[in-house]
Formats: sequence, structure tokens, C-alpha cells
Amino acid sequence: MPRKPERTTHPLPPPEAAPTPELAPEAEAPLPETMMPLLRVGAERLGVPLTSAQVRQFEAYHRLLVEWNQRFNLTAITEYDDVQVKHFLDCLAGWPVVLEELGATHPLNRPLHLADIGTGAGFPGLPLKIVAPRLKLTLVDGTGKKVQYLRQVVDALELRAVEVVQGRAEELGHNSSFRGQFDLVTARAVAPMNTLVEYLLPLVRRGGYAVIYKGAAAAQEFVEARMAIEQLGGETVRMAPVEVPLLGETRFVLLIKKVRPTPAQFPRSQGLARKKPLA
Ligand code: SAH
Repeated sequence: MPRKPERTTHPLPPPEAAPTPELAPEAEAPLPETMMPLLRVGAERLGVPLTSAQVRQFEAYHRLLVEWNQRFNLTAITEYDDVQVKHFLDCLAGWPVVLEELGATHPLNRPLHLADIGTGAGFPGLPLKIVAPRLKLTLVDGTGKKVQYLRQVVDALELRAVEVVQGRAEELGHNSSFRGQFDLVTARAVAPMNTLVEYLLPLVRRGGYAVIYKGAAAAQEFVEARMAIEQLGGETVRMAPVEVPLLGETRFVLLIKKVRPTPAQFPRSQGLARKKPLA
């Protein structure tokens, strides 16, 4: 029996809840110029300008990241400027690509449910949730300590409709509360693409997307993952180059649409997705 994943849920706001902050910005105290200046400029360039409240959430997020990183290793990147660019903006840079694709094919009349697999310190799931507060978010990581830290961040930032799950993608893929349940399933820096698609695609609902963040090796990894994508019920719709503002590096976001159900034998057990990727 796979271990029952531990789950905590922050309830969705009721349907009659007040308009989301991006529609009705409240009067906010002015931000200090020194607070997240790179992130603010970069987000503006990406077309996702931040409210003061969102900037403060990122500021609190950075503070907790540094604090917890002193106790156990979450990330090698902790400098104020670096976190703004290499973590926050890097995560946000994929979002316009997703919105563009969804705008073309998906009526946005309900909150999308996004799962972030191997989220680690919360990337890319938490930055996306901050800029798109209507998202329903499931953060997944195999490591207990990271899950503990993530729950603290979710509480401190007062994020709603976020659940944090300790579990392994290979197991959740066979759990009916997770399999085929998500509109979007993201991953950044978790595994090679041919392994990753076996983690992600079983979790995506038909018509939804796996969203894979990759660096320079994306094209080569994609060639090696093509057969696996097909076998798992996916169809690649875009391999989009994305420029992370203020970094001057091109990265890639691969969007794979789930067009058929994933056959029941996937994901395979005993670490086969990693040890013997589909070919
Ligand atoms: N996505 C984050 C973290 C990358 S580190 C970022 O971009 O910075 C990879 C993380 O994936 C680790 O926290 C590890 O615990 C988790 N992980 C690796 N394989 C996993 C699996 N099969 N299921 C769930 N989590 C996994």
C-alpha cells in the first residue's frame, strides 16, 4: 500500500468573496524603494505588474527562505538580488506563456487547480500563486522538512486555497485524489525531462497541461522525451523560449497537453521513471 500522503487544506474563499485584489486594489502604504526593486521592474517587463501587497508577500517569502535555509538546505541562492531574479522572476517568466496558451483554449471561468511537483522551497508554485491569487494550488515534495517550511510560508503569507502534500510523484500518480485532477502540473529543476513527464502527466486532467521549466538543455532533453510523452497521453504544444528579465539568459518552458488518458501502468513503481526512463 502506498503511504497515505499527509494533506492540509486552506479552504477556498466562498464564491461571494470580495473581488480579487488585482481587480480592486486597496489603498496601500507606499513601499520602500529598496523593497524587491529588481523583482518589481522585472515583473513589470513580463507584463505581470505587482501590487504593493504582492511585493510585501515576496519580501516575507525571502525572509523565511533565508531563515529556514540556515537550519537546513533549501537552496544555494539566498542573496537578496539573486533570489529576486534567479528564483522569483525565473518562476514568473513562465506564466505569460501559460496564460497565452490557456487564453486560446480554455475558458477561464473557474479557478485553475495547479500542482507543483518537487516544489522544494516553493518554486515555481508559490510565486505563481502570489501573482495569480485565484489559483488553487497543491505543493508536493517528498521531503518532510521542506513540507514543514512550506506550511509556514503559506501561513505567513496568508495564502488561501493552498494545500501542502508530502508525497512522491510516482505514488500520487496512482492515488485517485491526485491522478487526473489538475489543470496545470508544473516542475522546475526536479529531473530530466523523460523522467519528469512520467511524474507529471498522470496527474494532469484531460485537456490540461504539464508545464516544464528547463534551461539550455531543453531541446536535447525534449528529443529524448518525445516517445515517453506520446506513451503517457501527452501532445507537445509549445517549447517556448523565455527571457528572464535582468538575467540575460534564455530558458524554456515546455507545454504538454494531455490529450488521452495515461495508461494505468504509469507511473511505474520502484523508481523506474528515474532509473529506466521511457524511450
Ligand atoms: N522546484 C524547486 C526545487 C528543486 S530541487 C526549484 O525549482 O528550486 C528538487 C526537489 O524535488 C527536492 O525538494 C526533492 O525533494 C523533490 N523531489 C525529487 N523527486 C521527487 C519525487 N519523485 N516526488 C516528489 N518530490 C520529489
